[in-house]
Amino acid sequence: MQTDPALARLGTESAFSVLARAAELQAQGRDIINLGIGQPDFPTPDNIVEAGIKALRDGHHGYTPAKGILPLREAVAADIHARRGVEVGPERILVMPGGKPTMFFAISMFGQAGAEIVYPDPGFPIYRSMVDYSGATPVPVSPREEDGFGYRAADILSRLTPRTRLLILNNPNNPTGGVMTREETDALVTGLEDWPDVAVLSDEIYSRMLYGGRKHVSLMNYPSLKNRLIVLDGWSKTYAMTGWRLGYSVWPETLVDVAERLCVNSHSCVNAATQHAGIEALTGPQDAVDSMMQAFDRRRHIIVGLLNDLPGVRCPDPGGAFYVFPNIEGTGLDGQTLQTRLLENAGVAAIAGASFGETATGNIRFSYANSEDNIREAIARMQRVLT
Ligand code: PLP
Repeated sequence: MQTDPALARLGTESAFSVLARAAELQAQGRDIINLGIGQPDFPTPDNIVEAGIKALRDGHHGYTPAKGILPLREAVAADIHARRGVEVGPERILVMPGGKPTMFFAISMFGQAGAEIVYPDPGFPIYRSMVDYSGATPVPVSPREEDGFGYRAADILSRLTPRTRLLILNNPNNPTGGVMTREETDALVTGLEDWPDVAVLSDEIYSRMLYGGRKHVSLMNYPSLKNRLIVLDGWSKTYAMTGWRLGYSVWPETLVDVAERLCVNSHSCVNAATQHAGIEALTGPQDAVDSMMQAFDRRRHIIVGLLNDLPGVRCPDPGGAFYVFPNIEGTGLDGQTLQTRLLENAGVAAIAGASFGETATGNIRFSYANSEDNIREAIARMQRVLT
């Protein structure tokens, strides 16, 4: 068989291999604390589960429009209006099977040999994987640890060239939890006015997960980007729905038809019952989201404090998401070695910084979507690994 050589350039998401190894060790009877995979440890709120079950009982068993059912796209439009203060017609919204397909589609649309794509490093590994697969040249841009892993506009703008086709941004960021400030975002958008041909993919999947009174700054709030902005968001993190596979994206008018065509070619539509559950998530009570966020906030304080108490470890306080990304260079270990020792010797799953990019070999990511007791025990185990 002769396959496309581009396949050899596809990367992966190490969180899934660490999850598999953790499950293997667990099956052997080992006690594993999983701070590896990025998913809430809470179940999907009951009202959402019930809406999914009801949809199945009501006979929603068939295909839906490729874009998603209209009431769901209307609910998304209303949610965008309520939370971001922006009017978007449902015709520009596509319901997707999770957040990931939007990056697959957007990067496929702009990536080709000779094109450059600017992406966050450290960042969600699928960006780099897809850029490589598309044949485009990856151009990493890094946040500053001293800014709590926030991006500076000037750093991003300095990476743009006449060959840049797409800029990928992710706020709050995975794996750092960093959030770009409003001032830097304003400066970035002003700078982008000199680059009208650069499209922007804004991954806002953690937009509801902000701490310390921070407000989400959506790129949708900037009219100068309207005709070249793709926004990725979804239910996975906010509503603890990672396994349901439900996300959405907002596309510029000029791209929405081709994006829909990609949907028809790849998955036809999202599971019908899941879409009904998605309506309930957006329009039903939000108290479960609020209490999950309060729990994450408490855990954030605990894990940041405990990590900063360890010798050789430096951990900025994350502004959003549910990750910490300590620098562990002072321990004399790199992230990959620590990842292996933590999992194999101490039963703690975490992900080496190198899985998120070339610049982060001295970091490791912990997801604090786990109980306070487990977080305390995991960091105590880490202390034993380090001494
Ligand atoms: N974007 C970022 C930054 C993520 O961290 C993730 C998941 O970890 C996704 C997108 C993908 O989300 P989904 O599981 O809905 O595909």
